[in-house]
Parts: sequence; structure tokens; C-alpha cells
Amino acid sequence: MEYIKSKIRDVADFPQKGVMFKDLTTAFKDPRALHIIGWDLSQLYRDKGVTKVVGIESRGFIGGSILAFELGAGFVPCRKPGKLPADTISATYDKEYGKDTIEIHRDAITEDDIVVIHDDVLATGGTMAAAYNLVKQFNPKRIYVSFIIELSSLHGRDVLPADAEVTSLIKY
Ligand code: AMP
Repeated sequence: MEYIKSKIRDVADFPQKGVMFKDLTTAFKDPRALHIIGWDLSQLYRDKGVTKVVGIESRGFIGGSILAFELGAGFVPCRKPGKLPADTISATYDKEYGKDTIEIHRDAITEDDIVVIHDDVLATGGTMAAAYNLVKQFNPKRIYVSFIIELSSLHGRDVLPADAEVTSLIKY
């Protein structure tokens, strides 16, 4: 874990002043760090019978795809509005400034699925809470929530539903 941490770049004041951005591109470009991230993420779910991994646009697509591949599960993209070509369901949620919407294909998940929703960083939790509520509408057997990084000081876990099983590889 220390190795991955050493490959994460802190970028001050991105995308706006006051934000310390945890940049994972420097870890993803490092073969050993990418391998450890993929392996460690997947170890948490090996015996859970996971059938679908939902990745949140866009940084959640990277770890989410690796996780799906490692678990022998399918991959489902959760995207910004207007990007998915077929019929979708959507959720709108509050951001610090204004609102945001995410979408998922209406036929992406069934009641027989066991789902992991993955994003790179848990910050305020608003994005994941919206994604969780979206996936919940499909009434799958189980929903797990996975992050590479959790920014504990922002208390993102508190806005996630109490029944969400949340894991993160690295806490700051
Ligand atoms: P949230 O505030 O939890 O809804 O986060 C919104 C999105 O922005 C998530 O997809 C995070 O990956 C990303 N994000 C928010 N804050 C940071 C940060 N400090 N460093 C890296 N990514 C962040």
C-alpha cells in the first residue's frame, strides 16, 4: 500500500482553489502500482459472487474494468447525461455548485445480479450516493461499494446509505 501511496500525486487547487486533488494517473501509469491496485481491489470481492461491476465516469472506468476482469464479472458504465446510446434511467444530485446527473442503461442490471459500484475517490460522497440509488432501483441481490482512495476528512461515508458495504484501499 505504501508503494501505491508513493505513486499518487497531490495537485493543489485543482479543479478549483482549495481542493487538494488526488491524482491517480501517476499510479495507473506505473505497471507495479496498477497491478497492486487491481489485485488488492479484487481480493476484497473474490468470494462474493459478483456478477457486475458498475464504473462511474470517468476515472471509475479504469479500476472498475480491472476489477470486473479479475472477478470474471461484466462491466457497466455509469455516465454523464447524453453519453449512453440506449434507454437510460438517471439520478440528479446536488454538488457544491449546482446539480449533476448520472445515467445507466435501463437493461444494465437484473435482480439476479450481485453488484460492485466502483469509483476512484470517495470525497463528499454525493456522486456515489446517486449511483447507489440508481443501482438500487434494479433491486439486485447485493450492492457493494468500492473506492481506491477515501478522503476521510470529508465524511463521504456519512451520506452513503446505511446498508451500503463500503471499502477503500487507501484512507487519507
Ligand atoms: P464526491 O464529492 O464524492 O461526489 O466526488 C465527486 C467526484 O470527484 C468523484 O468521482 C471523485 O473521484 C472526484 N473527486 C472529488 N474530490 C477529489 C479529490 N480531492 N481528489 C481526486 N478526486 C476527487
